[in-house]
Amino acid sequence: MKQKFPMDTFQSLTTPFYYYDVNVLNHTLQALTKEADKYNYHIHYAVKANANPRILSIIREYGLGADCVSGGEIQAALNAGFPADKIVFAGVGKADWEINLGLDHAIFCYNAESVPELEVINELAKSKGKRAQVALRINPEVDANTHHHITTGTKEDKFGINREQLGKVLDKLNTLEAVRLIGIHCHIGSQIPDLKPFQKLCKRMIEIQEQLAERGVKIEHINFGGGLGIDYEHPDQNPIPDFKSYFELFHTFFPAEPYQQIRFEPGRSIVGQCGSLISKVLYVKEGTFKNFVVLDAGFTELIRPALYGAYHQIENLSSDAPEEIYDVVGPICESSDCFAKAIRLNKTKRGDLFALRSAGAYGEVMASQYNCRKLPNAYFSDLL
Ligand SMILES: *Cc1c(COP(=O)(O)O)cnc(C)c1O
Repeated sequence: MKQKFPMDTFQSLTTPFYYYDVNVLNHTLQALTKEADKYNYHIHYAVKANANPRILSIIREYGLGADCVSGGEIQAALNAGFPADKIVFAGVGKADWEINLGLDHAIFCYNAESVPELEVINELAKSKGKRAQVALRINPEVDANTHHHITTGTKEDKFGINREQLGKVLDKLNTLEAVRLIGIHCHIGSQIPDLKPFQKLCKRMIEIQEQLAERGVKIEHINFGGGLGIDYEHPDQNPIPDFKSYFELFHTFFPAEPYQQIRFEPGRSIVGQCGSLISKVLYVKEGTFKNFVVLDAGFTELIRPALYGAYHQIENLSSDAPEEIYDVVGPICESSDCFAKAIRLNKTKRGDLFALRSAGAYGEVMASQYNCRKLPNAYFSDLL
């Protein structure tokens, strides 16, 4: 099924802009909640994937919680109506004001990443006469087989507490009265191409749970983070990620005790496929060896190709002429401002509209104003 775009309306809008297909988002959320509900799994949407207020409010309507990595994200989640007791707060560098914001709203849990952080949470909670719930973010040392910029769970990564330090951290926790340990947390990376690393992750978390049980610590909350990938190559054939197999795997390889709650923090897999970046062709430029399509969108609107060498499917929405080979580039004054090299596109001319697909996650939310550019608008399929 090829996604339909409202071309007449698109012609009247200023490019570039983000276009969100609310139908795709709703179907994704329905599939996700159906599969997660089978096992009573709790889902916290990773706000960093897309913090557009309307996207947040649609997601909130499905009863999800929020996973935040900054004070700004906590505020955005609260503004969108996420209940504070469904907000978890992760991040290797939580500032005092961010921790205080969480305390003032009594968020559910801090996913803590180090002893000095635990000490600061304890101090700030104590001075407010409160007690903060924390989960320890464990570095499970599982390689996610994904791009090295988005792998987070190996020993060299800055995230989490390494297993051999766990004993020391527990000793410290015993001395902190204003924090209460309720669980363990992990997140091994993003856009993980197959499910195998998650199986390894289950095994590791069982080991860690046993390590904690030996010390008399009973873990009620286990949070497996996010990372389920989407099909960037086939957004039309494969718009909804395989949540069924994903949750089945955890159910099989992590048999939870009746007193335990299992949590996940998907970001990309919820919002990735509902969004496209729509851009207009400024010029078709003939080079010596190849032809360039110069778009009015650049890495200021979609940075993933420049940042990670990521692939996005690119379509000329205005042409069905025979295909030719082009490099597709943006207008930003950096050589890295290139979306794709030597790809086939229907013969292209100035004024054609392009869609860069699967841009719903880590697209709008990473937009910048470099080169004094304006932040683009976002439009929704049901409001056009
Ligand atoms: C980025 C992140 C997520 C979401 O990752 P996705 O790959 O978008 O699902 C979840 N949890 C934490 C702690 C993160 O940093």
